[in-house]
Amino acid sequence: MQHLFSAEGEAAITELLRKPALLAFDFDGTLTPIVARADDVQLDPAVAGRLCQLAALRPVAIVTGRSVSDLRPRLGFEPTYLMGSHGAEDESTPAATAARVRQLDPGRQRLAEQAAALNAAGVTVEDKGVSLALHFRLAADPARAQAAIDTQLLGLPTGLRHFGGKRVCNLVPADAPDKADALRALVARSGSRVALYAGDDVNDEPVFEQAPPDWLTIRIGQADTASKARFRLDSPQQTALLLDRLHTHLLQTGRT
Ligand SMILES: [Mg+2]
Repeated sequence: MQHLFSAEGEAAITELLRKPALLAFDFDGTLTPIVARADDVQLDPAVAGRLCQLAALRPVAIVTGRSVSDLRPRLGFEPTYLMGSHGAEDESTPAATAARVRQLDPGRQRLAEQAAALNAAGVTVEDKGVSLALHFRLAADPARAQAAIDTQLLGLPTGLRHFGGKRVCNLVPADAPDKADALRALVARSGSRVALYAGDDVNDEPVFEQAPPDWLTIRIGQADTASKARFRLDSPQQTALLLDRLHTHLLQTGRT
């Protein structure tokens, strides 16, 4: 996987912006550093300002694992599109979103019954409406926390699926869209022909794996050789530099 800040990366950015492009980003670990307490995160105002400028030139989407209501006040700007719970929460389809909330009820009930055992292992359950997150970022013994989660997954009701992340296990209805589904929907909805997507985690990989070859996909973080992204950047700080480059490119090409 090649670094985006290279001759090949520059050429890929130029090629992408020749076409109507959706500019889409994950949030935690991509636009902002991962911190111990997810509740403390606020987007850097300089990054928010740049995204706001980009949103005036191209549709900008944030596709986050957080709920929409959790994320929106942390942004400091209004993106063109905002999707929560890894693509499962879509404000434009409230009926489908409400159905997914109900589909999670059996899992919600099961985890409520097991809350004491999970808490004892350092796992906290976050109910995001259309997804449930079992966090263990603050667990004293991550292996014990993971074992407690694995035990719960064995007893989960059918009709749910789970996937990992950084010190988290996520539960959603089995047929809920993932981030790849969300990106395809947003490209169509925005009338775009291609997309840029940057993300830092295993749950961003479906986008990288399924992206057409003319999309620009970027994995944020130290090189993960298993990633299917076309390019990499080292950190959210480099994502901020990418936003500057995109803005410069768009102004220079005049294709606004
Ligand atoms: Mg992330």
